[in-house]
Amino acid sequence: MSSVGQHQEALVVAAHGRRGLLELPDGSSMPYLVRNRLLKVVCGDRVHWSLPAGSETAVVEDLVARRNRLRRQSAGRGDTELLAANLSHLAAVIAPQPEPDLFLVDRYLCAAELMGCSAAVIANKRDLGPFAETGLAVIAALGYPVIEASSRSGTGLAGLSAWLGDGIGILVGQSGAGKSSLLNALAPAARLATGALSTATRLGRHTTTASVMHRLAAGGRLIDTPGVRGFIPAIDDPRSVQTGFLEIMAAAAGCRFGDCSHGDEPGCAVKQAVQSGAIDGRRYASYRQVLADAQRLSGRARS
Ligand code: GDP
Ligand code: ZN
Repeated sequence: MSSVGQHQEALVVAAHGRRGLLELPDGSSMPYLVRNRLLKVVCGDRVHWSLPAGSETAVVEDLVARRNRLRRQSAGRGDTELLAANLSHLAAVIAPQPEPDLFLVDRYLCAAELMGCSAAVIANKRDLGPFAETGLAVIAALGYPVIEASSRSGTGLAGLSAWLGDGIGILVGQSGAGKSSLLNALAPAARLATGALSTATRLGRHTTTASVMHRLAAGGRLIDTPGVRGFIPAIDDPRSVQTGFLEIMAAAAGCRFGDCSHGDEPGCAVKQAVQSGAIDGRRYASYRQVLADAQRLSGRARS
């Protein structure tokens, strides 16, 4: 480990509130503390840090500008919650059991589009049989890779690694869909076992709810964010919601009004496409729901 460092750059590989773990350019790691209460640091962040004399805990000084951030609306309360930063890949995991929630998948795909990060659906637990979801075919037809996988049989793991490449990815989806099992299969030497993480970060019992970035054998990295169940993307400008739904964005070019929200406006090409079946009804319903949630959020921001 380097000695006293002033404002060197490092990658956040574990985060829980104001504490976590940095990975230094030489591959070593160091616990950190964020003193500045205005600074929110998450997995994937690049930060500048310093090491106070006599301390083994780095102090995070500031953030390197983020390429993007995954944020969700917090249930009930008026604030938003930052989940991860600088993502290149988002994989929404579904399985035959628990019953897939494709509305949730749509919301994650929407967030990925708005972040400018590539997205895929992992149809997991392939060993239980093939997926017979028409909704999944609709998503595949939009161009999203649908990767069949099983951590139990090993199906699709190589394909998933290849898709992730050497970027930073995140596995998201319903509890029980098999995210942890996939992660363990892809990163057998998960760099930090829970016990080691607890010691290294000084998080103690909070380790199980810390988000952690794992290094994969194939070179990529995957962020695991335990405890994230529901997901409503945090979108500041409701007019940008359509950007998160590729087919709606494409059809919107034909709407009579440039600021059409594709609700009850006359001459709406999106609604026509829904009526003719060219746009899937479930996807349209997802769009309307995300829009309504974004409108609520921006209403709160103004008030
Ligand atoms: P998570 O909540 O998304 O992290 O899901 P887990 O990885 O904890 O898995 C939830 C349950 O699904 C556990 O009982 C696993 O044993 C099971 N499971 C995970 N992956 C597979 C798989 O590929 N095939 C089958 N049949 N079961 C799996
Ligand atoms: Zn319209």
